Amino acid sequence: MTIAILRAAATGRVVGDVHSGLHSVVHRKVIKVGSVEDVVSAVEYAGVNGLGVAIAGGRHAMGGQQLVHQGLLLDMTGLNRVLYIDEERGLLKVEAGIMWDDLIGSMNRSGSSWSIIQKPTGADRISVGGSVSANIHGRVLGRGPFVNDIESLEVVDARGCLRKVCRGDELFSYVVGGYGLFGIVVTVTLRLQRKHYLRRRVRTASLADLVDAMQALLEEGHEYGDFQFNIDSHSPQFLIEGILASYEPVDGAVSVQDPGRKVLSEAQWKELLALAHTDKGEAFRRYLNHYLTTEGQVYACDTMQYSTYLDGYHRELDEKLGTARGTEVITELYVPPERLPLFMDDCRGLFLEEDADLIYGTIRMIRADHTTYLAWAKEDFACVIFNLHTEHSAEGQFKNASIFRQLIKIARKHHGSFYLTYHRYADREDLDACYPRFAGFLKKKQELDSEELFQSQWYRYYRDLYRD
Ligand SMILES: Cc1cc2nc3c(=O)[nH]c(=O)nc-3n(C[C@H](O)[C@H](O)[C@H](O)COP(=O)(O)OP(=O)(O)OC[C@H]3O[C@@H](n4cnc5c(N)ncnc54)[C@H](O)[C@@H]3O)c2cc1C
Repeated sequence: MTIAILRAAATGRVVGDVHSGLHSVVHRKVIKVGSVEDVVSAVEYAGVNGLGVAIAGGRHAMGGQQLVHQGLLLDMTGLNRVLYIDEERGLLKVEAGIMWDDLIGSMNRSGSSWSIIQKPTGADRISVGGSVSANIHGRVLGRGPFVNDIESLEVVDARGCLRKVCRGDELFSYVVGGYGLFGIVVTVTLRLQRKHYLRRRVRTASLADLVDAMQALLEEGHEYGDFQFNIDSHSPQFLIEGILASYEPVDGAVSVQDPGRKVLSEAQWKELLALAHTDKGEAFRRYLNHYLTTEGQVYACDTMQYSTYLDGYHRELDEKLGTARGTEVITELYVPPERLPLFMDDCRGLFLEEDADLIYGTIRMIRADHTTYLAWAKEDFACVIFNLHTEHSAEGQFKNASIFRQLIKIARKHHGSFYLTYHRYADREDLDACYPRFAGFLKKKQELDSEELFQSQWYRYYRDLYRD
C-alpha cells in the first residue's frame, strides 16, 4: 500500500447510495484510488487485514452493491482518464472510474469522429465501471445491453493480479453484470459508432399500439426511442397514454446550435419534479407539451443521451414542500413485448389499490443478451421503469417494499423478470424463477474468490438467501 493512499484513506466513514439514500453503512476504510498500482495495493491490504472490499463508482445502484459494512470501500472515481481513441478501428480505452459525461466531453474536445453507442439515460454521473457491473442499457433500439459495446476489460482479481479479459473469456461473462464480485475493473475498451446526427420525432401514443409502433420505427431506421407514460392515477389515461419519442438519422451536415432550440432549464426541471409530487396531471401535461415542442430538433448521437439529474434534489424538495424525508426508488421490470399491455393493466390495478406515488415511468425495448452469465435480458423484452416516491419512515419503506415485491410477481405472471440493480426486495422464489443461474453465479464466486474478498451488502443478502 502506498503511503499516499494510506494517508488519504478515511476511516469509519458512512457512505450511502445517491438516489434513494436508503443504504448507508459504516466502512472501516474508504480509499480513493488513482492508479492501477493503488488498486493492487488496496487489494493486498484488504487481504492481509481480512477486510471485504466493495467497489464504488457513481453510487447510483440502489441495492447496496457498492457498500460493505465494516469493510474497505474502494472509490474508483479518481481512476478517470481517457487512455486512447483508436480512430481507425473505432475503439476507446478508458479508466473505469470515468463518468459518462466526462467521457463524452473528452471525446468531443479531442475532435474524434466516433461516439459512444449507449449509456444509462437516467443520469450522467454514472461510471463506466459501474455500467459494466450492472450491464446497463440506454434507449437504443434493436440492440442488446451494454455488454455488446465492450471489446475488453482489465481487471484486478482477488489475488491482486491484473488480468486482460476479452469477449469469449469465461471471466468476461461473469464480470459484466457481476456487480463487482469478480474483480475490480480498472480499464474498459469500448466499441464505438461513427458520430452522426439524429432528428427527434415526438408524438403521443397509446400503450395498446406501442410495441407495433416501436417495431415500425426500428424498421424505418430510427435508432433510439422510448415511451414516457402518464403518471396521473386520477386520469383514465394513467399508464396508458404516453410520449413516444424516437430518433432518426439526418443526412448531411447539420447545426445543433439552433438558438431557438427548446430545452428545459434547471428551474423548470425543479418545478416539474415538484409537480410530479403534488399535481401529477399538471406535471404530465407540462412535460408532454414541452416534449411536443422539441419535435424535429436535431441532436448529436452522443449528447442526445445526456439527461438532467439534479444531485440532492429531493432534500430541497422536502424542504420546499414541507414533507417528511423521502426520495425516489426505481424498479425495472421486463416482460415479453406481447404481454406488455396486460402487464401494465395489472400494474395499474396494483398502483390504484396501493395508492402508489409514481413520479416517473418509461418503457424501452431490449434485445436478448447471450453473453453475460447472469443476463437480465434473457430474451427480447419490453423494459418498464417505475420511479416511486418512497417515504423514509418505516411505514413508507414497508409500503413500497410490498409494492416492489408485488410488481416482481406481476412480471413473473407475464413470463417476465426484473433488474437486480435497483433494490433487493426479491425473494428466493423470484430469483429462482427470474435468474435460474443465480446459484451458479454464487458457486463461481466461491470458486474464484473463496475468501470472499469482493463483497457488498447486496452480495451478503443474496448469498444468505441461498444458504438455506
Ligand atoms: C437516476 C438513475 C438513473 C439510472 N438510469 C439508468 C438507465 O437509464 N439505464 C440503466 O441501465 N441503468 C440506469 N441506472 C442504474 C445505474 O446505471 C447502475 O446502478 C450503475 O451500476 C451505476 O453505476 P455507478 O457508477 O453509479 O456505480 P455504483 O452504483 O457505485 O456501483 C454499481 C455496481 O458496480 C460495481 N462497480 C462500480 N465500479 C466498478 C469497477 N470499476 N469495477 C468493478 N465493479 C464496479 C459496484 O461494486 C456495484 O456492484 C440509473 C440509476 C439511477 C439512480
